[in-house]
Amino acid sequence: MQSSPLPENHRSGFIALIGRPNVGKSTLVNQLVGDKVAITSPVAQTTRNRLRAILTTPTAQLILVDTPGIHKPHHLLGERLVQSARAAIGEVDQVLLLLEGHQPPGRGDAFIVNLLRQQRLPVQVVLNKWDLVPVDRKPEADAAYRALLADTEWPVHHCSALDGAGCPELVSAISALMPEGPRLYPAEMVSDQPERLLMAELIREQVLMHTREEVPHSVAVSINRVEEMPARGKNKARTAVLATVLVERKSQKGILIGKGGAMLKTIGQGARLQMQTLIDGPVYLELFVKVVPDWRSKPQRLAELGYAEERV
Ligand code: GDP
Ligand code: MG
Repeated sequence: MQSSPLPENHRSGFIALIGRPNVGKSTLVNQLVGDKVAITSPVAQTTRNRLRAILTTPTAQLILVDTPGIHKPHHLLGERLVQSARAAIGEVDQVLLLLEGHQPPGRGDAFIVNLLRQQRLPVQVVLNKWDLVPVDRKPEADAAYRALLADTEWPVHHCSALDGAGCPELVSAISALMPEGPRLYPAEMVSDQPERLLMAELIREQVLMHTREEVPHSVAVSINRVEEMPARGKNKARTAVLATVLVERKSQKGILIGKGGAMLKTIGQGARLQMQTLIDGPVYLELFVKVVPDWRSKPQRLAELGYAEERV
């Protein structure tokens, strides 16, 4: 395919998605980029690592930085998440503040609005989950958020990250406020995350989906080996992945493995299917579960798992 030359006023740059856990940041990233690059979940705080998703249009390239939700830190990992969100603000050209349109603004929202008021980047607001607001309640919901945002001049967009309503308009509005610049990534690239990290996130997503009892924070996944296996006999060529799910307690290990290994099998099958889509080929996945007491509070373990300390 021959690529046409970029327009003279082509725009590009970085956009941080900021908002409380569970407002729909990862869902929005996936909706905008049109590909599954961010892990989403009905359970809060699933996004641990910062993810850059890349949206290329004929006139702009928008690099979306999906950050963990800003919240009050409870322990070391929590602090890292907040640091990471704050660090993201320092590195971008624009901020997209996501709020949950179907719920009244809360104290957490006021906290984030104040944090953003103190810096000079352009901010645009997404009132997300607008599909969940009944038509007759929309004016009221809108007014409540306008009050929260009083004396800011931030544009407000009503969107549904889930069904895509309002998203094309949002892309135009974001593009219009970006600085002029060239494409920074190849047009076909949708994410800058190494595949291994995405694989780990897919496994973690399956764990969260199937084990409701346990807190998401106490599960981590490390990918031990990824190997291309050539076709042999009746077996087609495939990618073999060895991964370990780390938990903090023996009881959690028991839940993850399940009766006769049934739970681990379900998790493995779900993750394997997602991985096959990710790498576009057959995958053989072997999953282990390991108990590492208190891994969340050990800086060295966190670093090994890829939750590196961010400088703010
Ligand atoms: P994050 O923590 O901000 O990244 O939130 P997620 O993207 O993981 O979304 C949290 C939950 O909200 C998931 O169950 C999503 O399916 C759901 N969700 C996100 N956006 C919307 C939306 O616009 N409408 C509805 N109805 N649900 C949404
Ligand atoms: Mg997320």
